[in-house]
Amino acid sequence: MQRVRGGLCRATGQRSEIDLPSIIACGGGQLARPRANYPLSNPALFARDRHHCLYCAHPFAANALTRDHVVPLSRGGRDRWENVVTACRRCNQHKGSRLLEEIGWELLALPYRPNNAEYLALINSRRILTDQMDFLATQFSANGRALI
Ligand SMILES: [Zn+2]
Repeated sequence: MQRVRGGLCRATGQRSEIDLPSIIACGGGQLARPRANYPLSNPALFARDRHHCLYCAHPFAANALTRDHVVPLSRGGRDRWENVVTACRRCNQHKGSRLLEEIGWELLALPYRPNNAEYLALINSRRILTDQMDFLATQFSANGRALI
C-alpha cells in the first residue's frame, strides 16, 4: 500500500490523499507487450539459479560465481539464457572448454529463458513486495525455479 498525495483544495485547504494497493488491475486498454528477449546479465542469471553452482550444488556469494556456457563459446555455444548456468569458479575452471559428456558431469537443473514475470522477479527481487511477488508467481513458467 502506498499513500499518494495530491494538491491542496483552495476552498478547504485540505490536501487530497489516496491509498493505492501495490497491485492495480486495469480493465481494457493497451499494456506494453512483454519483451521476448530479456537481456542476459550475471546478476539475473545468478538469481535464476538461486546463487547455487549448478555443477556442485553449493550456494555462493555473487562474487564467487561465474557464468558458464554449457556448450562453450569455443565449441559453437551461444551466450544465451538456454546455454548458460551459474557455476562456482572452481567448477567453471575444471570444466574449461569441455562438454559435460566429456567429463561425465550433469547439470542439476536445465537452463531456461525466464518469462516476463520471472524476469521482473529476478532483477527486482529485493524491491518486490510480498503481495507483488505472489502475483508474479502465478505467472511463472512451469520450467522456472521457484523464486520465492
Ligand atoms: Zn561448483
